[in-house]
Amino acid sequence: MKIVISACLLGVRCRYDGGDSRNDTAIKQKETDELIPVCPEEAGGLSTPRPPAEIVGGDGDDVLNGKAKVMTADGTDVTEAYLKGAQHALQVAQSHGATQVILKARSPSCGCGDIYDGTFSGTLTTGDGVTTALLKRHGITVTSL
Ligand code: SF4
Repeated sequence: MKIVISACLLGVRCRYDGGDSRNDTAIKQKETDELIPVCPEEAGGLSTPRPPAEIVGGDGDDVLNGKAKVMTADGTDVTEAYLKGAQHALQVAQSHGATQVILKARSPSCGCGDIYDGTFSGTLTTGDGVTTALLKRHGITVTSL
């Protein structure tokens, strides 16, 4: 099966802090499935490393609806980059016919079910990242690691 996956879970050093989120479960999945790595934030034009960002005023669905923004801790609005990255991930999934996606938990792009609450205090709230929200809108099943 073709599965789109957050590149950082496979050990790609694309995280905001220049590190990765290598995950043994994700690595093992390579044995049974064709994994297609994506990093929405890099695809959206952001550099690595980059300032940490959180969704302020809602979750990824609210960002797609124009009701919330993605902001860095120092107050820069990076919403457009996140939207661009989400569109890229959707295009990758659709072009490969992938209906399942595995994304990195709690990221403002890739989070699924839990994201940070926009206060940069390490507090989680219920919601999806921007990429997750867009993929779900297009009928793609998203799980997180
Ligand atoms: Fe890129 Fe998503 Fe990993 Fe963040 S969580 S580094 S956006 S793949």
